[in-house]
Amino acid sequence: MTAESEERLGNFFGRNIPDVNVIRSCVHCGFCLPSCPTYRLTKRERSSPRGRIWLMNQVSIGNLELLDPIFEEEMSLCLNCRACEAVCPSGVKYGEILEASRAQIEEHRETPVAEKAARGLAFNVLFSDMKRFRVASHALKLYQRSGVQSAVRKTKLLNVIGLGESEQMLPELSDRFTVPHGETIAALGEKRGHVALFTGCIMSTAYAGVHESTIRVLTRNGFDVTLTADQGCCGALHVHAGEPDGGRKLARANIEAFEKAGFDAIIVNAAGCGAALKEYGHLLKDDPSYADRATAFSSTVRDVVEFLGDAGLSATPGPLNWTVTYQEPCHLAHAQRVTKQPRALITAIPELTLIEMPESSLCCGSAGIYNLIQPDMSSALLTRKLDNALSTGAEAIVSANPGCMLQLAAGLRARGDRRPVIHLIELLDRAYAAAESAAEPESAAAD
Ligand code: SF4
Ligand code: SF4
Repeated sequence: MTAESEERLGNFFGRNIPDVNVIRSCVHCGFCLPSCPTYRLTKRERSSPRGRIWLMNQVSIGNLELLDPIFEEEMSLCLNCRACEAVCPSGVKYGEILEASRAQIEEHRETPVAEKAARGLAFNVLFSDMKRFRVASHALKLYQRSGVQSAVRKTKLLNVIGLGESEQMLPELSDRFTVPHGETIAALGEKRGHVALFTGCIMSTAYAGVHESTIRVLTRNGFDVTLTADQGCCGALHVHAGEPDGGRKLARANIEAFEKAGFDAIIVNAAGCGAALKEYGHLLKDDPSYADRATAFSSTVRDVVEFLGDAGLSATPGPLNWTVTYQEPCHLAHAQRVTKQPRALITAIPELTLIEMPESSLCCGSAGIYNLIQPDMSSALLTRKLDNALSTGAEAIVSANPGCMLQLAAGLRARGDRRPVIHLIELLDRAYAAAESAAEPESAAAD
């Protein structure tokens, strides 16, 4: 019998109980400590992966209350960046037990009314339905474009009520949104396969331009791309925030949207979404109607950088005379273990120089809604990340996840630094545009 099916494990009780076998697979070696951002900043054992697993074990044997303030604080202070998981010699699935612990806390704590309303609005209203999400995004776009945003910022009114920093993090919304209707964009040249694009919530509104770049780069490399209808948010925010039921609902809908067509791969360009989609098999493992379908779905998910890096570029990028540095998204490097392909794609661009920053895979402090709920730790990590990135002297920061890009861009804005933060696939798209413009005079001459 697994711990998930038990009703009580020490002071864990009810649904979503962490798997005791995973908790006890930690051998307390401490190899993970140097990789943990919160340990590196606090130097506190309890704020390390080993310390947090020890706390979980204490709850599991009844020595610590589930709602003990230290337990609650540490489950919240953890970034769920999974750097510990990537280096653990015992293979402890830390993300699984952290997410279950958070779900337990959410299930049993007394949530203040205002917080309950805010969570309900975010998780049950906005992120659960893409039509509503897009309506809200249009309203946000109006707020940004009408001049109200700059007027509000000038009054510093939001600082008085403690929302100034959060408002600065709002993404600048794209001029157009990606609304998937089932259309297919045909490959250019020799066809190598047929993929589906997962469009998501924030990527399809704040970063629709990244989707356009993704489609251009994939079709240029011989892949038909379908924008599958009826897909929605991946559910990562729900799962990370202790709301797994909301995540499961979205996972079931996405499986139904994609499973009939039999694509070669489901392509994602947001590392956080990709990690969540690859873990639908675990999320729905206790659902007899969906467990096998979820595993099959997850097995076809690929980050676009992973996919193109493995498949190889069939079209040659043009030159970009630029120096860039690469910020590794945690959910690409640690959760999906994709580290070589991004660098291979960046260095495939002629004349471009990649300067590695120190601590490239240390979390930037974004981590979903972490920068809203743990602003001090988030801000300290952002400062460290930007210091590292700017120490390279690179002209642009390249990343592959919307959360990281928003966080880095907000940090650069606050420093008055106008350096761009761009998605890796946009970088490749620019290189292909350079190849095209380099080819134009030649074809004109040939005419
Ligand atoms: S590296 Fe793994 S086994 Fe060692 S302390 Fe960390 S989580 Fe436990
Ligand atoms: S997930 Fe990240 S912040 Fe949390 S314990 Fe592991 S390394 Fe530390």
